Amino acid sequence: MRFRLLTVSLLFMIAVSFGQTSSSTKPAPGFSLDTIDKTIDPCVDFYQYACGNWIKNAEIPPDQSRWGAFTELRERNLEVERSILEKAAAGGASRDAIDQRIGDLYASCMDEKTVDAKGIAPLKPELDHIAAVQDKTALIDEIAHLRLVGGSSLFRFYSRSDLHNADLVIAYIDQGGLSLPDRDYYLKDDNPKMKAMREHLVEYVTQAFTLAGQTPQQAADSAQTVLRIETALAKASMDRTARRDPKTQDHKMTRDEAVALGPNFYLNRYFADVGAPNFSQLNVANPDFFKQVNGVLESESLDSLKIYVSWHALNAATPWLSQPFVEANFKFQQNLTGQKEMPARWKRCVSLTDRQLGEALGQRYVEATFGADGKQRMLKMVDALDKSLAEDIHNLSWMSDETKKQAKVKLDAIRNMIGYPDTYRDYSSVVIKRDDLLGNVARGNIFESKRDIAKIEKPLDRKEWGMTPPTVNAYYEASFNEIVFPAGILQPPFFNKNMDDAVNFGGIGLVIGHELTHGFDDEGRKYDPQGNLHDWWTEQDGKEFEKRVSCVADEYSNFVAVDDLKLNGRLTLGENTADNGGARIALMALEHMIADDQTGKEGQKIDGYTPEQRFFLGFGRVWCEKRRPEMARTSVLTDSHSPGQYRVDGVVQNMPEFQKAWGCKAGQPMVAENACHVW
Ligand SMILES: [Zn+2]
Repeated sequence: MRFRLLTVSLLFMIAVSFGQTSSSTKPAPGFSLDTIDKTIDPCVDFYQYACGNWIKNAEIPPDQSRWGAFTELRERNLEVERSILEKAAAGGASRDAIDQRIGDLYASCMDEKTVDAKGIAPLKPELDHIAAVQDKTALIDEIAHLRLVGGSSLFRFYSRSDLHNADLVIAYIDQGGLSLPDRDYYLKDDNPKMKAMREHLVEYVTQAFTLAGQTPQQAADSAQTVLRIETALAKASMDRTARRDPKTQDHKMTRDEAVALGPNFYLNRYFADVGAPNFSQLNVANPDFFKQVNGVLESESLDSLKIYVSWHALNAATPWLSQPFVEANFKFQQNLTGQKEMPARWKRCVSLTDRQLGEALGQRYVEATFGADGKQRMLKMVDALDKSLAEDIHNLSWMSDETKKQAKVKLDAIRNMIGYPDTYRDYSSVVIKRDDLLGNVARGNIFESKRDIAKIEKPLDRKEWGMTPPTVNAYYEASFNEIVFPAGILQPPFFNKNMDDAVNFGGIGLVIGHELTHGFDDEGRKYDPQGNLHDWWTEQDGKEFEKRVSCVADEYSNFVAVDDLKLNGRLTLGENTADNGGARIALMALEHMIADDQTGKEGQKIDGYTPEQRFFLGFGRVWCEKRRPEMARTSVLTDSHSPGQYRVDGVVQNMPEFQKAWGCKAGQPMVAENACHVW
């Protein structure tokens, strides 16, 4: 799957992405007027007005890289999951199969004493296998094995919808094999921070190999080898912004053609090793990568390639080995995140269980937290947002009737998923042992890898979920043409049963609008109602659209993220378009609700604020946040979402509705001279 998310996915720092210890009796981070800084004029800087007092009082907890509504809610969900897992881990004969599995995985992770006593031993057989390889052909067997047990090296292999026939899942091969989060870290020399990050990688690789038993000199040489090979892979990799256009990755070919791109990859042997079905066609997302890296596989010695593959086995395992490995990994991650302290072990273990057995833990989470009334009220809101977007499209001045008709067909075809999947994933084949953490991680990864690979050449399962129920996020998936809202986000401050509709429309209403708009952003618009890459726009309408999104790209390219770094308006274009469209249609939906309300209650002021003002305050509250400078830098390069400040100010300055609600005048900062308007 390839999601358009609501907020950044912290996948590249899985082991360290969670937060501060807090009491489970702490109230939900809800909507409150206390966050407002009344000394600020909302027409000068609305984000500062809505969040100023929150920013003054909030401190980023030492184990966090950023702090805001999302992370606060993640913390609360972690606490809920923790109590589920502690109960399950306590054991007893009455446990069912689900509690046994999630409880024992959690227990194996919490048993630090056993993990520490074993040292490198659990990974030793893996490293020995790689060391024993005699030729480059056989090395592919180890790379394939790593793909199954977890540890992506050299390239990526996965299943996904055929870009031109979404109902069919096919095989994909793609660029990959880097340790740093983006190719730019290896290639950019104009920025000393990039160079420093490469040095941090070298330190980390050296330290990890030393801990694994190499002499300091051997380890230092190994680190240079890893950096050299990864730099070559980075050079062959496509730029992140270019990859946002799905057409750049549309290269379906026969298996023979793919093999011929890079004979040194021994792809046929690899596909057999991972147990892939005998497919005849596949999509090569970046053919140049395979052509270029083929030469690297030729010129690098077998010994160097073995060091590179060993590194990826080791790097994937460090968070689940003894304490010195865990610390080496964290020290490296700190350079990217700025975290001051490592999150408590229980947080890392809850996150691991969520990642490995997410729909089993998620099932328990839903039973503990999610009521049926939540689903009903959400369905009503999705329906209201849907109607608003239809109305918005109908009224667009720049789009022809022909394209409008097609857009409506696509909108009507968007399906929605709320809370949790109809059927939970069956993990009964995954063996979990209380005294074998790394083994558990490997078996969980093998289960997931095989599940992914088994989908090749099968019809698309449109009921499948790409997020676990406790996740505080949401997504639109183009090939499924669906929007998905896990139970984890359907809570305050996004959604509060006890709040007025205005605040909820500014929170979860805007989230729904954001995800719907993704179906029509610069990337989503290229897919048809069935999820195929297919142009349904007239040429003129396509040009008009591009003109309008260029306005958004230019607007956000001028925002400063940190120090000297400005946002990349093209990398963040889809998200910014979704934020702008989402805000506009969520407010439309609220206005309809006020107009339809016979009692007049919906239109009344609360605490001195009109419903429209409370809508914008609810919107602002969701994005109040603080980031560490390290995280802010990493985000500019890797995150397609803008920082909270611009997710708010970047949107409201484009909205005449905002200016009306707050009485702003032309010339004030929150009134853009050339306001952008796509949806
Ligand atoms: Zn999004």
